[in-house]
Amino acid sequence: MAVSDHVDLPQFMAGLERRNPGETEFHQAVYEVASNVFEFISDKEIYHSLQILRRIAEPDRIIIFRVCWEDDQGNIRVNRGYRVQNNNSIGPYKGGLRFHPSVNLSILKFLAFEQTFKNSLTGLPLGGGKGGADFNPKGKSDNEVMRFCQSFMTELYRHVGDDIDVPAGDIGVGAREIGYLFGQYKRLTARFTGVLTGKAIDFGGSPIRTEATGYGTVYMMQDMLALRGEDLAGRTCLVSGAGNVAQYATAKLIELGGHVVTLSDSTGFIYDKDGIDAEKLAYVMDLKTVRRGALSAYAEEFGAEFHSGRTPWGVPCDLAFPCATQNEITTSDAEILINNGCIGVSEGANMPTEQDGISAFTDAEILFAPSKAANAGGVAVSGLEMSQNSTRRTWKAEELEVLLREIMTGIHERCVEHGRCPGTDYIDYVRGANIAGFVKVADSMIAYGVM
Ligand code: NDP
Repeated sequence: MAVSDHVDLPQFMAGLERRNPGETEFHQAVYEVASNVFEFISDKEIYHSLQILRRIAEPDRIIIFRVCWEDDQGNIRVNRGYRVQNNNSIGPYKGGLRFHPSVNLSILKFLAFEQTFKNSLTGLPLGGGKGGADFNPKGKSDNEVMRFCQSFMTELYRHVGDDIDVPAGDIGVGAREIGYLFGQYKRLTARFTGVLTGKAIDFGGSPIRTEATGYGTVYMMQDMLALRGEDLAGRTCLVSGAGNVAQYATAKLIELGGHVVTLSDSTGFIYDKDGIDAEKLAYVMDLKTVRRGALSAYAEEFGAEFHSGRTPWGVPCDLAFPCATQNEITTSDAEILINNGCIGVSEGANMPTEQDGISAFTDAEILFAPSKAANAGGVAVSGLEMSQNSTRRTWKAEELEVLLREIMTGIHERCVEHGRCPGTDYIDYVRGANIAGFVKVADSMIAYGVM
C-alpha cells in the first residue's frame, strides 16, 4: 500500500471515536500521542502497514467485575471493578489501581494507554495497564476499606501475577489499601510474590517508592532548567493536590530551595505567601494520610488563605506542578499561568492539562514536561521494587535514590533526542516523550508478528 493510501490523523481519530463512543478522556489521550506519532511515521511504511498505533490503542484485554461488600451497618454495597491490560510487548502489564467515584472505562483506558508509553520511556521492561473501582474510600472505616479490598482482590487475583500484571497504587489507593490487597492475594494463592508494588517495607516494599513520583516530577523540572543554564532555587512554585505526589514534590522543592506557596484538594486550595516549609508539610502529611481531613484546616493552623472550590493557577509563579488529577489545568488556566510569567510546568498528575492548554504552553515555548515523562519516577521505582522482590533483597534508600535520579535523567535525554524543534533551541517534550515511548513498543510488536 502506498503511504498516501493510509488513513490520516482525522480519519484515525474518527475511527477511534466511533469504536469507543463517549470515552472523551481516552480520545484525548490517544489524540495527544497520535498527533506526534503520525508525523513521525509519515515516512516509515512498516508502522503504517502493520497498524501499530491502532493496535496499541486497542487494549489487549479489559476485565470488568462486580465488587460486593458489607458496610459497618450490615448493608450490602455493590461497586464495579476494572483492570485494563493495555499492552505487554516490553514487559508484564504495570500500572496503578484507582479507587474514586469518578472511575469509569474511559478514564482507565486513557490511563492504561498513557502508561504503556510512560513505562517504555523509563527504559525498564514494563508493559502498560491500569485498573480500579468506582469506590470512594473517603468517609469509610478501616474495616470497610479492608472488606472492599478483599472483595476486589477475590476477583482480580485470577488476572494478575508477578510475571503477568503487577498493579500499584494511584488516587485513593495508598499503603493501607495495598496492604489489604496484598494480604488477600497471599491468602487466596498461598504465594508470597511481588504481585503488587507500593507495599510497606516490612513485606517487600521498596525504599523511595513513596517519594518517587513527586521527586521525579521535580527532577524533570531540574533537568529542563539545567539545559537552559537555570535552576530551581528561589523560584516561586505552585503545587496542586495534597496527596502522595503533591507531598513529595513539595518536599523535594523545599530541599532544592523552591518557594512553594500552594497546595490543593477536592475542596479548594491554600495560598501561603510565606511558603510551605518542612514543618508545615509534615502537618499536611499527617492531615491527609492519618487524619484524612480537608486542607482548610491548614489555613486555620498557619493563617494562610483558603480558596474554597478553586484551583491555584491564578497565583503568580515561576513554576507549576499539577499533582492532583486529570484536566485540572484548563486552557484559560494555562493562559493565565503564561501571562503571569510562569516559565515551566512539570506534570505530576496524569494528563492534568487540557489539550489546548498544552498547545498554549508549547506555543509560548515555556518548559513543559508531560505526565508520561514527568511522573514516570513512580513506576520506575515500582520496577525496581519488582527486581528486589524477584531477587529477595532490599536495596538501600541511597542506592535507589541514585537509580531514580539516573532514570529521570535518561527520560529527559530521550525526550530531548526526539523533541528538538528544527531551527530553534526549543525542546517539545510532548513530542519527545510520545515518540521515544512509541518506538520501543512498536519495534517489539513488529518483532512478534501480527497478533
Ligand atoms: P492521592 O489520592 O494521594 O492524592 C490525590 C490528591 O488530588 C488529593 O489531594 C485529592 O483531594 C486531589 N484530587 C483528587 N481528585 C480531585 C478532583 N477531581 N479535583 C480536585 N482535587 C482532586 O493520589 P496521588 O497523589 O497518588 O495521585 C495524584 C495524581 O498523580 C493522579 O493523577 C495519579 O494518577 C498520578 N500519579 C500518581 C502516581 C503515584 O505514584 N502515586 C504515579 C504516577 C501518577 P482530596 O485530598 O480531597 O481527596
